[in-house]
Amino acid sequence: MAERGQRDVSASGKGLAPKKLFGQNFLVNSGICEKIASECVPDAERGVLEIGPGMGALTRELAKRAKKVVAVEIDTELIPVLQENLREFDNVKIINQDVLKTDLHAILAEEFSGMKVTAAGNLPYYITSPILMQLLEQRVPVEYIVAMVQKEAAQRFCAQEGSRESGAVTLAIRYYSEPRILFDVSPGSFYPPPKVTSSVIRLDLRQSNAKPADEKRMFAVIRAAFSQRRKTAANAVAAGLGLDKAVVAAALAEIGLDPSVRPEKMTLADFAALSALI
Ligand code: SAM
Repeated sequence: MAERGQRDVSASGKGLAPKKLFGQNFLVNSGICEKIASECVPDAERGVLEIGPGMGALTRELAKRAKKVVAVEIDTELIPVLQENLREFDNVKIINQDVLKTDLHAILAEEFSGMKVTAAGNLPYYITSPILMQLLEQRVPVEYIVAMVQKEAAQRFCAQEGSRESGAVTLAIRYYSEPRILFDVSPGSFYPPPKVTSSVIRLDLRQSNAKPADEKRMFAVIRAAFSQRRKTAANAVAAGLGLDKAVVAAALAEIGLDPSVRPEKMTLADFAALSALI
């Protein structure tokens, strides 16, 4: 049964088969496109950087609401389809590139001068984390990000620090932003339908974060801690960074943690303090 609001954008009608290689699951539920676009564009003066516009179902809704949309799509075969589907809009620019190899700072400076910008996308699932981390780590100057991701990934990205679901990516996302899950989207809203439920998440970028003295070192400690899930933080960090376990255990004790603490129980502040000591 079709979901409410479902319609019309079908890849087959264009003679193009969706490409698994590029993670193509196109939105065919206009109600969902409208809901995502409203979240992305709270005011008509805003710019939107869209990642992976596909055939333009979401792009159209963004273009109706925003001052300008710049959409980066890797699949060259989709470009003429996109151009045709977006013909009536003069505020959309399409860039045929791999977003991971695109200088997003340059795009923001050239295309969105003086505008607040939202980054948006029904992201290709095979590179969800790299795309989000590109935006966050490179501190691309967007105000917030609205992204459709697999539900399981959304739960990891938006988990609370110190909770069972917390992992290295949770802490990285939380370091740069305040994340939350907005709503779920069922497989029937896509063509072809994916095997799993999706969620739309929103990441509000922190304008200033209290940086640890050595950010790189802190993330190296976080990665080491989570690289061996069943180990205690002391064992995993010592093994991962080639340190003496007693040194790591003593540092944990010094910051008030039990040396047998599990990494998922540790907060960003704990990791910042630990990395300053070892
Ligand atoms: N936004 C469209 C929609 O909702 O119908 C398409 C979403 S589909 C899940 C992901 C889109 O990202 C596809 O159009 C795919 O070709 C594109 N894509 C995949 N990898 C990409 C990359 N590295 N850079 C830019 N676009 C990419």
